[in-house]
Amino acid sequence: MDSRPFKTRFAPSPTGLLHLGNIRTALFNYLLARQAGGTFLLRLEDTDAMRGHEKYARALEDDLRWLGLEWNEGAGAGGQQGPYAQSERGAIYKEYFTALEESGQAYPCFCSEHELAIARKTALAGGRPPRYSGKCRVLSRADVEARFARGEPATWRFRVEEGGRLEFEDKVRGPQVFNTDDIGDFVIRRSDGTPAFFFCNAIDDAVMGVTLVVRGEDHLTNTPRQIMLLRALGLTVPEYAHIALVVGADGAPLSKRTGSRSVQELREQGFLPAAIHNYLARLGHSYDDNSLLTLDRLAALFSVTRLHRAPARYDEAQLMHWQREALLHLSVDEIWRSMGEPVHALVPPDQREAFIAAVRANVVFPAEALRWAQIVFTDTLAMTHPARAAITAAGEEFFDVLRRALEKHGTDFKAVSDMLRAALAVNGKSLFQPLRAVLTGELDGPEMAKLLPLIGVERARERIRKFSGDLCSNNEKK
Ligand code: GLU
Repeated sequence: MDSRPFKTRFAPSPTGLLHLGNIRTALFNYLLARQAGGTFLLRLEDTDAMRGHEKYARALEDDLRWLGLEWNEGAGAGGQQGPYAQSERGAIYKEYFTALEESGQAYPCFCSEHELAIARKTALAGGRPPRYSGKCRVLSRADVEARFARGEPATWRFRVEEGGRLEFEDKVRGPQVFNTDDIGDFVIRRSDGTPAFFFCNAIDDAVMGVTLVVRGEDHLTNTPRQIMLLRALGLTVPEYAHIALVVGADGAPLSKRTGSRSVQELREQGFLPAAIHNYLARLGHSYDDNSLLTLDRLAALFSVTRLHRAPARYDEAQLMHWQREALLHLSVDEIWRSMGEPVHALVPPDQREAFIAAVRANVVFPAEALRWAQIVFTDTLAMTHPARAAITAAGEEFFDVLRRALEKHGTDFKAVSDMLRAALAVNGKSLFQPLRAVLTGELDGPEMAKLLPLIGVERARERIRKFSGDLCSNNEKK
């Protein structure tokens, strides 16, 4: 058992915007650290060669903060083991590389790309794993010096033990066993002098004191190499949990089409952090409690043993379910805030609460709240075709009575509809559809009894005049 303080990490490469798959990895690491009262570290796996990485680094920090996944060590938060961006850690990698070189555990390889490609093909054709032949492993010191003197480019390979076995216990996938001969000597430093990605990644985890690495199973093949490197360097090997990747409904990796929206897009659309937490914490992980949980509860009840091995299928309907759940838990003030500026500009302050009470059950995103605010508080009503048809079907007399009912009962919807019912012997759909249609331009929506007082008698009268006026002119044309 690792006696060091519990530490997890999120180590994104800032090459683009975070999407749900990345955030899920961040969330699992966050929840585990929070549960243990440990540290959640953020490391930026950038390199100088990445373009635009600063912009993406800021964006991912914003996304994490918006989601409330605060990290207590790393980029922007400080800590003892910085810097926390790989682009600034070149000297550290160099130091460890030199240690391997000096102990003879790394050696230069002069094989050309072309030569290696042919060897790979031959091995595959012969049904053997495409591992490095070890050709340069046995070069004499004099040979090496001569080739360097001629300016020949070389990569550096790690000398893997022959005929060995490498075992480790993956906290999700169980015992893992690898034959070192299937791995072969691998490149840790490219011919341009830059270190291999998994070399930096392993060293950082070890020297930053990460005790548990939770990451996508696409990194599982790196793990035996990383363990060998850390052991060779005398560094402490963390524990690993490789989580199944998120796939679309079709089983293929998430794409734009199957729902890989960026966190920024989800945020702009109006998804709430609580909806994202509750959805992602259950994507490939199960809880017994199916109610909306706070981050604190999600953390307390999270367990690595409850992570599934099968790919996690993205399901938009589930995400929407949690969005609705999250909305139900918002206070009136929070809902109001979540509706955003355009809605704030339309709703008169004294009708704010009544508006929220009227629409909250029908609104999942700010765009929908805006639509209802426009319907209720502006004069630009767009009539849908079915609504128009309902008005036509009701006929002129319906609206004559409605006009009178409004004069008599004001915005008391029940009294207004009772009067129509009594006067015209209409009921059910034939009563409520034309009413809703003429007042809102739609056939569905929030309760009319709540909407009518917001629309007001003036506007209602004007709508009846305008839309049932269409009815008269239609009749005249006939
Ligand atoms: N930078 C890697 C990535 O974004 C992270 C690898 C890891 O988590 O170990 O995929």
